[in-house]
Amino acid sequence: PKADASKAAIENAALIGVTVRKDLDFPGWYQQVLTKSDMIEYYDISGCYILKPWSYFIWEVIQKWFDTEIKKIGVKNGYFPLFVSSRVLEKEKDHVEGFAPEVAWVTRAGSSDLEEPIAIRPTSETVMYPYYAKWIRSHRDLPLRLNQWNSVVRWEFKNPQPFLRTREFLWQEGHTAFLTKEEADKEVHYILDLYSRVYSDLLALPVVKGVKSENEKFAGGLYTTTCEGYIPTTGRGIQGATSHGLGQNFSKMFNIAVEDPDAELVNGERPKRYIWQNSWGLSTRTIGVAVMVHGDDKGLKLPPAVASIQAIVVPCGITNKTTDAQRAELENKCKQIADSLVAGEVRAEVDLRSYTPGYKFAHWELKGVPLRIEYGPNDAKKEQVTAVRRDTFEKIAIPLANLANGVQDVLAAIQKNMYEVAKKARDAHIVKVKEWKDFVPALNKKNLVLIPWCNTTPCEKLIKEKSARQANGDEPEDEKAPSMGAKSLCIPLEQPTGEDAIVPGVTKCCYCGEEAKVWGLFGRSY
Ligand code: AMP
Repeated sequence: PKADASKAAIENAALIGVTVRKDLDFPGWYQQVLTKSDMIEYYDISGCYILKPWSYFIWEVIQKWFDTEIKKIGVKNGYFPLFVSSRVLEKEKDHVEGFAPEVAWVTRAGSSDLEEPIAIRPTSETVMYPYYAKWIRSHRDLPLRLNQWNSVVRWEFKNPQPFLRTREFLWQEGHTAFLTKEEADKEVHYILDLYSRVYSDLLALPVVKGVKSENEKFAGGLYTTTCEGYIPTTGRGIQGATSHGLGQNFSKMFNIAVEDPDAELVNGERPKRYIWQNSWGLSTRTIGVAVMVHGDDKGLKLPPAVASIQAIVVPCGITNKTTDAQRAELENKCKQIADSLVAGEVRAEVDLRSYTPGYKFAHWELKGVPLRIEYGPNDAKKEQVTAVRRDTFEKIAIPLANLANGVQDVLAAIQKNMYEVAKKARDAHIVKVKEWKDFVPALNKKNLVLIPWCNTTPCEKLIKEKSARQANGDEPEDEKAPSMGAKSLCIPLEQPTGEDAIVPGVTKCCYCGEEAKVWGLFGRSY
C-alpha cells in the first residue's frame, strides 16, 4: 500500500505541473505557468487579469526599489484623477492621434447619458499638464518632478497577453519639467539607466538601451529612449520601458512658460521661455518578460531578488519506521531553520503540509522558488541542510552553523547565474547583417538583427513590409516562420566600433543602399 500511495503522489505531482513543453507550445506553456503557479487568474473581461500575491509581490519589489531611487534625485509622488475631458485630451494633436484608437470612454452614469463623454487616461500627460501650467509660474518653480503609481487603460486590439499587453495595466509614470533642454536630456538617460537596472539587477534580464526611430517614438514627444528585451523561445524583441524627452511640444500646447532668466529685457519685459518636459513609464510588463525568459518545463523560475519566497524548507526522510516523536522533532527543527533564515533576512518558509516530499518539490519548482532546503535524518547527523537550486538543480550541503550566510551566498549565485544564462542566450541571437538577402533568414533563426541603417521612416516601413512578405512567400522551405514583419526596436546607444563603425558617406543602408547613419536593431516583436 505504501508503494501505491507514493506512486499516486508522483502522479499528483505530475498533474499539478505544466503539461505542455515551452519549446512546442509557447502560448499554452505561458498560460499554464501563470495560472498553475498562482500568479494570475483570468477575468471575464478580455485583456484584464487578476494579479495574485505571487506576482504582485514582484511588482512591490520593483516599486520599492524604483521609488527609492527616484526619491534620491528629488522626484516626489502625487496622484491625479483617472478621468480626462475630451477637450484636454485632444489638445496635443500628435499625441491624441497616437492614442485615440485605444482610449476608453465613459458615456453613461446610471441610466442617463453624460452630457460629454469622459475619457479614461491612457497615460497622463494631458491630465497633468494643465495644472503644471498653473503651478509653474517662474523659473524658481523648476524643476518640477512628479511621479505617480497608478493604472492606465489602453483598449488594445492586438492579441492581449497577461502582463505583456493588457487593457488595464499597473505602472509608474514620471512627469518632469525643466528650464533647459540639457537638464531634461540628462534626466531622460538617468531614468533609462534605472529601468535597465530594474531588468538586470532585479529581474536578471539583459536589455539593450537605445533610442526609438521617429516612427516608433512616443506620440507627441521629441524623442523616446527605450530598453529592449529579448524572448529567446520566440526570437522576438519586447519594449521593456520607455523614457521620453517631450521637448517643448506639450509646454507650447498647454502654455507652460516662465520668464527666461537668461534673456535680455525686451520693452522692459523678459521674454517667455517654454519649459522642457520628460515623461517616463515602467509597467507590469516587466513581470511577463521575466516569466517568459527564465521559466522552463517545470514552471516558473524566479530571480531571488524578486521572489516572495526565496527558500522553502521541506522536511525529508520520513518513513514508516519514523516514530511520531522523531517526526515532531524533525518538523520542529525545520521550523527553526526557517526562523533563523528569516532572522538572517532570507525570505523563507517551511512546508509542513501532509503531502509527500516529492509532491512538495514539484509544487515549489512550479512556483519557481529559487532554493529548496531539504532537512532529514541524514542532514541532522551531519548538522547541515541540503540546498537544491531551482536554476541548476545542483545540490549543496550548507552547515547549520553557517546557515543564513550560506543560503545568502547561494541566492546571490543564482541571481548572477540567471542573468548570465539569459544574457548568453540573448547575445547569441543579436546578429549583424550587412546585406538584405541575409536579413529575413537571420530573423527566421530567431535573431534580432543589427543593420547599418539610413534611419528614415519610408525605409523602416519597407523593411517591415518586405520582411513579412518574404517570410511568407519567398521562403517556402520555412513554412512555420512567423509572417510578422520586423520593426525597428531601437538605435542602440552603444554602437559597434572599430571595423564595424559606420563610415559617413561610405557605409550603405542594408535595405535601401542609401548612406547609413547608424546601426539599427530590428526584430519581430511583441
Ligand atoms: P508608453 O507610455 O507607451 O511609452 O508606455 C510605457 C511602457 O509601458 C512601455 O514601454 C511598455 O513597456 C509598457 N506598456 C505599454 N503598453 C502596455 C500594455 N498594454 N500592457 C502592459 N504594458 C504596457
